[in-house]
Amino acid sequence: MIQASGLRKSYGSTVALDGVDLDVRQGEIFGVLGQSGAGKSTLLRCVNLLERPDQGTVTVAGQEMTALGERELRAARQRIGMIHQHFALLSSRTVAGNVAFPLEVMGVARSERAARVAELLDLVGIADKADAHPGQLSGGQKQRVGIARALAGNPSVLLADEATSALDPGTTASILALLKRLNTELGLTILLITHEMNVVKSVCDSVAIMTGGRIEESGPIRQLLTTP
Ligand code: ADP
Ligand code: ADP
Repeated sequence: MIQASGLRKSYGSTVALDGVDLDVRQGEIFGVLGQSGAGKSTLLRCVNLLERPDQGTVTVAGQEMTALGERELRAARQRIGMIHQHFALLSSRTVAGNVAFPLEVMGVARSERAARVAELLDLVGIADKADAHPGQLSGGQKQRVGIARALAGNPSVLLADEATSALDPGTTASILALLKRLNTELGLTILLITHEMNVVKSVCDSVAIMTGGRIEESGPIRQLLTTP
């Protein structure tokens, strides 16, 4: 579902990605685990071409992202949802308004939008907060809004950028359970980056360990994280 090959990216003299290959299969939750500065965020941003790699190719759902121009990329990104550590919600909009935002950008008609927003809020369990503003929500509720917004375009892939790092352990567990449910029920492929081993252990099928812009090891989690 996601293939990256030979990715390199530098910022001045800082090498953020030093030849990264990645193969995420359809329907799996794939974790990239590494310390701060390892290059995880750069890798994630290269997958949806928010960052253009200096070298290498990225293919998502059969489409070579690195071959697309800006216009085509905007359309391709609708098939890729993304959630963020600090949620990135619009504080002046209601919960429903935040989830409606990508639908507005896609030009979905108002009546259809309302039905889709209601369906998405229901899916992530915050239908009762539709008219609240983000400032009135807990961290876990905000991330549920982030997830609903990310799913608005009915993506086949979800990218999660330290999605639980700002949350307490109990809330982290409930958000991970939600991601697992979406993975199972919708067949959503999830690529998540994290510095927390517990996150990887609790939901990931496969894991890549990243250090210094390189993937040190990768494979099925049972194989990688169990000591013989
Ligand atoms: P991680 O997500 O694992 O913490 P990052 O991908 O954010 O790692 O960063 C990898 C390296 O690239 C770090 O040394 C970081 O300082 C550098 N870096 C990332 N983004 C930029 C940027 N926009 N400008 C300059 N350096 C950057
Ligand atoms: P804002 O002004 O904060 O952007 P709006 O009230 O204009 O929010 O609503 C934005 C979108 O969300 C519209 O498409 C609207 O149909 C939808 N919407 C608003 N309230 C609800 C609700 N309670 N349930 C479902 N959808 C809603």
